[in-house]
Amino acid sequence: MYKVRKLRLERTQQLDDLTLAAGALYSRTVTSFWRIVRHKGLWLKPSSMMRWHNSNKLHAHSADAVVQSFYSSLRSWRVRRKDNPDAKPPFRRKRFYKVQWKSSAIRLRNGKLILSNGKGNDPLIVPWRWDCPKLVELGWNDGYELRAVYDIHSNEQPQGDKVVGIDLGEIHPAVAHDGEKAIILNGRLLRSKRQYQNKLKAKLSSILDRKKKGSRRWRRLQWSKQRQLAKINNQIRDILHKQTTRLVSMLHERGVQTLVVGDVRDIRQRVDYGHSANQRIHQMVTGKTRWMLTYKAKAKGMDVVLQDEKYTSQTCPSCGTCHKPNGRQYVCKCGFRYHRDAVGAWNIRQKYLGYGPVVGAMASPIGVRYWPHMWCSSH
Ligand SMILES: [Zn+2]
Repeated sequence: MYKVRKLRLERTQQLDDLTLAAGALYSRTVTSFWRIVRHKGLWLKPSSMMRWHNSNKLHAHSADAVVQSFYSSLRSWRVRRKDNPDAKPPFRRKRFYKVQWKSSAIRLRNGKLILSNGKGNDPLIVPWRWDCPKLVELGWNDGYELRAVYDIHSNEQPQGDKVVGIDLGEIHPAVAHDGEKAIILNGRLLRSKRQYQNKLKAKLSSILDRKKKGSRRWRRLQWSKQRQLAKINNQIRDILHKQTTRLVSMLHERGVQTLVVGDVRDIRQRVDYGHSANQRIHQMVTGKTRWMLTYKAKAKGMDVVLQDEKYTSQTCPSCGTCHKPNGRQYVCKCGFRYHRDAVGAWNIRQKYLGYGPVVGAMASPIGVRYWPHMWCSSH
């Protein structure tokens, strides 16, 4: 389990020089890699690439890290390509690129973090009142940001043996049911951010269309568009991180051992709420939520299993009949009514445990809402 400490840094010539050097090295790596693919039809190994390309402005291991991150985006493209044939490999050159220092280049002395940049170069020195990190990264997030990575040896164990069903969705990022109570991650804030993102995208694209493609104005606008969209993307990711962390710790406190996550990879066949045009986005969103929940739960010693979620949103937990709900409330002929997404989570759990429908009243769900700097739980 890793913990990251982030620190804003003022923009300086030294930071610019370092990230420019990394950008130059990254660009040389990209160019050489694809040139060799084109001319020789082969993929150069990372070790050969690291021997070939270096930088006299970076620590040797920092230079290696630049080459390695090209290869890791190459690997993630090969994985993504299986689901998304339009996925693009990393082919773009970068003017600036993140710089990483591995432990061999990191020292802590007299309240200062000293990051070595190799012989003949000034180290980067940052006032530091914390422990010595294992890895440090200098990146850009609307300004320079130093990310210090710590290795946390987590010996956390589950505090019980409860099984919880989890339904991932777009309206609510996740709804969990442990057989007694449902916990709902409120998706309102995320949804409004996404709507705003779509509107902004459409607006900026239409302005871009009116400019001459490739012109100076067009390029400047294009750059500004990327920047504005990236900013919202950051906010969305941040909210999702906070909500999933919160859910996992709530489940851990409640004695959950196993998270049963509804498998939504078949979503294309399920024409549920939402527009069909949004389904790819839906997949991306639920994929991200699932990934975050999985690694955070595992860090707390909990298990995560996937469960085919066919019919789980339609089956009545009380009488077992199947019908399509409409509206946010699930209402059955037998008189059962409950929060619609909580029904899905409940059924995913039942399906995993191999139980049939259970008659009985269900406690009303707990809603977890996130607004910046504030948590609200409501019953
Ligand atoms: Zn019923």
